[in-house]
Amino acid sequence: MAFSTEAVFRDDAYLRETEATVVGINDRGGIILDRTIFYATSGGQPGDTGVMLRPDGSPIAVAATITGEHKDEIIHVPALEQAVPQVGEKLRLAIDWPRRLLLMRMHAACHLLTVVCPYPITGAAVGEEDSRVDFDIPDAGFTKEDVTIRLMELVQANHPIYTRWISEDELAANPTLVKSKNVRPPSGTGRIRLVCIGDNASIDSQPCGGTHVASTAEIGEIHIGKIEKKGRENRRFRIRFGAMLAN
Ligand SMILES: [Zn+2]
Repeated sequence: MAFSTEAVFRDDAYLRETEATVVGINDRGGIILDRTIFYATSGGQPGDTGVMLRPDGSPIAVAATITGEHKDEIIHVPALEQAVPQVGEKLRLAIDWPRRLLLMRMHAACHLLTVVCPYPITGAAVGEEDSRVDFDIPDAGFTKEDVTIRLMELVQANHPIYTRWISEDELAANPTLVKSKNVRPPSGTGRIRLVCIGDNASIDSQPCGGTHVASTAEIGEIHIGKIEKKGRENRRFRIRFGAMLAN
């Protein structure tokens, strides 16, 4: 039996703490709640870690968050040797906020990179210190210095970042919204979550289920650490925090 967890982080990525009720424990000890602020690994963004407090105040450490049989079922994977809560128990949830904020800044930075490099995306991975986006491009003549300058222009312009839901029909009528070459946005639910950047999505909009900061300025200083050649028509761009080191 699969549960459907209310994904609170989709509506409010900044919520660090909330309460939820245990609805199930799976055969591997994974904890399933009625609602959660823990993002489950998907779309290149790692799942959250954090802690759940039981009614008596004792903690259950969460080592990972993943999706279950269905994408709507979110499983909180406890660290080793944690107490197992009862179904029906109310827990106080707290995500590892400093880590999540780094991931939100990095994830938003990846979106900006797809604005600067408007080519089909073949892969992406968001990390706390280093993120990568792979593009299907031949040698396009990009240098990490040029791309960094254009990224930082977008950061400094402090564009808003927000989400908007559209229908599948609306997406079908605007196929250029989808930048990913191999991954199609989930269909069948009738609605698609768009992540928009800029007033009236003037900078960008694309389907994404991840968590992002609310403005480009919140990303802070970033740079392209490396552009790697991954095959004849594939380039891997690595984003890092901080200023580019002078050569
Ligand atoms: Zn995203």
